[in-house]
Amino acid sequence: MGFADITPSLRAVMPDLRGRLIANEPLAPFTWLRVGGPAQALFTPADVEDLAYFLLNLPAEVPVTVIGLASNMIIRDGGVPGVVIRFSPRAFGHIAVEPGHRIRAGAFAADRKVALAAAEAGIGGLEFLFGIPGSIGGALRMNAGTRSNTNPEIEGETCERFVAAQAVTRAGAIVTLGPEDMKFAYRSCGAPADLVFTEALLQGFPRAPEEVQAINRRVQEHRERDQETRVRTAGSTFKNPPGHSSWRLIRDAGGLDLRVGKAEMSKKHANFLIAHEGASAADIETLGEEIRRLVRARSGVELEWEVKRIGVA
Ligand SMILES: Cc1cc2nc3c(=O)[nH]c(=O)nc-3n(C[C@H](O)[C@H](O)[C@H](O)COP(=O)(O)OP(=O)(O)OC[C@H]3O[C@@H](n4cnc5c(N)ncnc54)[C@H](O)[C@@H]3O)c2cc1C
Repeated sequence: MGFADITPSLRAVMPDLRGRLIANEPLAPFTWLRVGGPAQALFTPADVEDLAYFLLNLPAEVPVTVIGLASNMIIRDGGVPGVVIRFSPRAFGHIAVEPGHRIRAGAFAADRKVALAAAEAGIGGLEFLFGIPGSIGGALRMNAGTRSNTNPEIEGETCERFVAAQAVTRAGAIVTLGPEDMKFAYRSCGAPADLVFTEALLQGFPRAPEEVQAINRRVQEHRERDQETRVRTAGSTFKNPPGHSSWRLIRDAGGLDLRVGKAEMSKKHANFLIAHEGASAADIETLGEEIRRLVRARSGVELEWEVKRIGVA
């Protein structure tokens, strides 16, 4: 059973809309975990002006959710009420090298492609993006980054390379944000939650293309060795609590043996959960909550979800 079709009433108040607006569109195929229900209405803006027009005219009571490449997201089985915004690569996937070792990238540009463009242009400092399977919009919202105990050259965090972002407010204004507006912290950004990021300007430094490519390769090797790369996951499930590693807390609490329905914790990286064929969002979320309960009971530490859970059960 789907949601009520709100698209005719939305179109009626937005006669000049150019993007695509579809009712009850399944979202699972867009996500890394391949689970979850439909969007009540899925909007794909034609460009930034179209997005601004849409948000300006969207009735205030309609909730808005943005998804990027959905690599850090559980979409619940009942789907997402209101409007889900998902960009097209054509309109928001641009990547341009600018003077001063800078890269301007659309919010739907894949992090990996940005890292490849940086390598080609001889720009260092963005190699960490090579291993993150999300989009630039998701990197801004999550302050995506990588830490390594063994190899500092593969480390990096979005906030360290950030110069400016373009976004559209819920009221439909196109705005530019600087570092102080973003309020970056560990895997989070404190800029207003209803901003839709449309573009980022990132700063690198000179580094020979071969050197950047070699680091990109080491990023990949690190991933293949230490993480799940060939199954359905959403990356790190929980943030590392101050002074702790989530994977260690989960392992020590016996979480590695836990399975709910078709979801289980990874034996390779205890903070990754795996969705097997046929898993539901409920299996995955219940598993995560069970892990939190185990860790709380064993160590007294409260794990905080890094993965975003959206929609209704
Ligand atoms: C195998 C694997 C490995 C991973 N490794 C890492 C890692 O090393 N480091 C790391 O930080 N993450 C990692 N992740 C998690 C994930 O890739 C990152 O969080 C990534 O930045 C999410 O980007 P996305 O486009 O997929 O965002 P989504 O998952 O689609 O969304 C995440 C959040 O960003 C918001 N968002 C997305 N786009 C926009 C936009 N344009 N405007 C406003 N808000 C937006 C969403 O609303 C949501 O709140 C990994 C995931 C997987 C599956």
